[in-house]
Amino acid sequence: MIEAIPESQVVGFIDPDQTVCRNPWCRLDFSVSSAEEAFQRGRNDQNFFWHFFLLRCPHPGQLQYLTEANASVNLLACSNRYGKTTMLAGRHFHDNVFKVGAEERYFDDDLSFNLDSFTRTRYRTVHTAGEWDQASEVWEDAQKLISESARLEAFVANIKRSPPYEIEFIHGAKWLFRTLGVRGSGIDGKSFYRLSIDEGGWILDLESMLHNVLLIRVADVRGQVDIVGTFKPGMAKDFFKLCVRASAATGAAIGFDHRSDDDGVEGLDLDAAIRKYAKQFGFDLDAEIEKARALGIVE
Ligand SMILES: [Zn+2]
Repeated sequence: MIEAIPESQVVGFIDPDQTVCRNPWCRLDFSVSSAEEAFQRGRNDQNFFWHFFLLRCPHPGQLQYLTEANASVNLLACSNRYGKTTMLAGRHFHDNVFKVGAEERYFDDDLSFNLDSFTRTRYRTVHTAGEWDQASEVWEDAQKLISESARLEAFVANIKRSPPYEIEFIHGAKWLFRTLGVRGSGIDGKSFYRLSIDEGGWILDLESMLHNVLLIRVADVRGQVDIVGTFKPGMAKDFFKLCVRASAATGAAIGFDHRSDDDGVEGLDLDAAIRKYAKQFGFDLDAEIEKARALGIVE
């Protein structure tokens, strides 16, 4: 029952026998008449994939990120109860189930789906963080999602529950879980369609790591990097800089969710806290926004 979800539970649960979402902001009709229809619709429709295969209703913010954050490097700065863990897990599941981004390798010239090429296409994604404690949140959530949805479990061939942690899918895709290690050494020498980083704010050399390691790891398959985190006062300088730049480039406002996260803001509201925080780094957030406005980048 949607109504029974506590406020902290931002991702709504769906009963397997439901076909229309009960969330008032959603009301998605996800009824299908065949598995093939579900598979086809799930490839291009994130909201459908979440409801039908993950048995979750993404909230509007998550859905916006899932559908619109398709740059080489995508940033999400959010509060603690945003549901970033589940958002990242669902994003990797969608990639791996459909081998998203590798379409040219398994769709023939006439755009017909070639199952043989599909299963033979080597496909890897990786979820990382600076420390295993941080990376393991998505790992735990991924296993929970599998255990709670038979439709998702059907795609999973094997779960390696000891290092190196991995989820193997029935068509050969693999989702790896790693720590970044010194200067990104934990993921060196591999190629990924998606590389996600949780708690990006804790990584002090994030910017140089991005250019020297992370972008190289996704370059040859034109994959994507997701950097997710919260702004930590006294930390997160690189993460914050990257977010401000992304904001200026896309026009996406740096907004703050006041729901419940007072983590480290010492009694200030978040807008005030972030301005104070930005000034610690010599960053005048208002001036940056004014500059972007003058350039016509943001309204
Ligand atoms: Zn819904």
